[in-house]
Amino acid sequence: MQVLYKSTRGKKEETVTASMAILKGLSEDGGLFVPTSIPKLDVPMDRLSEMTYQETAYEVMSRFLTDFTEEELKDCIARAYDSKFDTEEIAPVKKAGGVYFLELFHGSTIAFKDMALSILPHLMTTAARKNHVKNEIVILTATSGDTGKAAMAGFADVPGTRIIVFYPKNGVSAIQEKQMVTQKGKNTSVVGITGNFDDAQSAVKRMFNDQELAAELDRNGFQFSSANSINIGRLVPQIVYYVYAYAKLVKAGEINAGEKINITVPTGNFGNILAAYYAKQMGLPIHKLICASNENKVLYDFFRTGTYDRKREFILTASPSMDILISSNLERLIYRLTGEDSQACAELMRSLSEGGEYTITEEMKKGLEDFYGNYCSEGETREAISATWYGSDYVIDPHTAVAAGVYQKYLRETEDATPVVIASTASPYKFAKSVITAISDRYEGLDDFALCDALSALSGVRLPAAVEEIRTAPVLHDTVVAPEDMPAAVRKILGI
Ligand SMILES: *Cc1c(COP(=O)(O)O)cnc(C)c1O
Repeated sequence: MQVLYKSTRGKKEETVTASMAILKGLSEDGGLFVPTSIPKLDVPMDRLSEMTYQETAYEVMSRFLTDFTEEELKDCIARAYDSKFDTEEIAPVKKAGGVYFLELFHGSTIAFKDMALSILPHLMTTAARKNHVKNEIVILTATSGDTGKAAMAGFADVPGTRIIVFYPKNGVSAIQEKQMVTQKGKNTSVVGITGNFDDAQSAVKRMFNDQELAAELDRNGFQFSSANSINIGRLVPQIVYYVYAYAKLVKAGEINAGEKINITVPTGNFGNILAAYYAKQMGLPIHKLICASNENKVLYDFFRTGTYDRKREFILTASPSMDILISSNLERLIYRLTGEDSQACAELMRSLSEGGEYTITEEMKKGLEDFYGNYCSEGETREAISATWYGSDYVIDPHTAVAAGVYQKYLRETEDATPVVIASTASPYKFAKSVITAISDRYEGLDDFALCDALSALSGVRLPAAVEEIRTAPVLHDTVVAPEDMPAAVRKILGI
């Protein structure tokens, strides 16, 4: 069955193929591409449970990206999920303290963005070939810390592409910044901005919607695309690991085929948890989707009240990749809650961009029953790290800790004993300082790399190659601009 894509803000009849949706990133009307229908996962669980990650990826992705041939898709998958990952399992499931941690940080930048960004460049260049695109593709990305590096690692030296990354100069961890500014590759550029992530993301969105700029780029042989999680080419690969984790739990005898599980996701832009929601819609037996926020708890308030209100102070936390006040992917859920009424969806999004808030109807609120939302304060996040370490000898990063802490709140509130998978989104080494200081106060005053060594000695987990590499790497990018100067920075980089 063919699956097409339409905009959350556009006419239903105006559809594009999967490859076009991946190339465009965002629809011209500012909406996000969504599938016209969610395909069913029609592969028996006993077959899925015997599959490798790559085979599972093919089963899931082929049902969404229906204009890719089998050969094209298998080629993209093989190029993405290879020895860049430090384990053949790609996304191993570890049991600790009675919960299952789905480790999504075994790729080249040791955070979960690698899961999708290692395949996106291949999907995109394949899509360009299929659609006879002659322009060079310019990937424009705003990052809260992890996307930028993972996107650059994916796109570096991929022919026919350039990548420009904007990050909040004072809003990412030292290791995250070092990872980005040492990025190699002739086609990569990294620019710090004197604003926060939302400033960067809003400016990037404006550039995408700027028709004059698009024409100027086209005259010069360029066109924009997006590697942000609004791209459907990011979302679809993320559905895979939920299916894979479920099948592996069945295979290990931890759950029975058909038995429901809960999934807890540390959430920022709402991409990862939306992928889990799509997995549920495909038929994966999922009971609750537990949405975990840090102190930037816009989503928690939204689930509680039905009002999404971004007019609040932006808080810098120990889980910076979740420091977000505008969760872009929520628009895809809102669209479904309106009964796929793109006019109603566009109306709500307009009120968000113009007035800073919107409220959904009582009818729409009913659709939120799949979800449970809560948040962890900074103190509760530290406690979750420490409790997991002292309780089960397992080290988790602050993002994963937000999820673990929220899951405990859910458990206390509901006493729902359904088995739970917690998406473990970053290696603790990426946030060594927050992690080790939550475990012990003996490490004050050490720099980030010394802290990584200390964490390795303490936990017995080998230091990932990604940390070793950047320890001595030279800084190759040092531009910093104000948010309003981002378009000028893009023109300068492209030489137009
Ligand atoms: C991006 C990121 C998140 C948030 O994921 P969303 O898809 O934006 O909700 C959580 N944890 C880490 C480590 C991340 O990099």
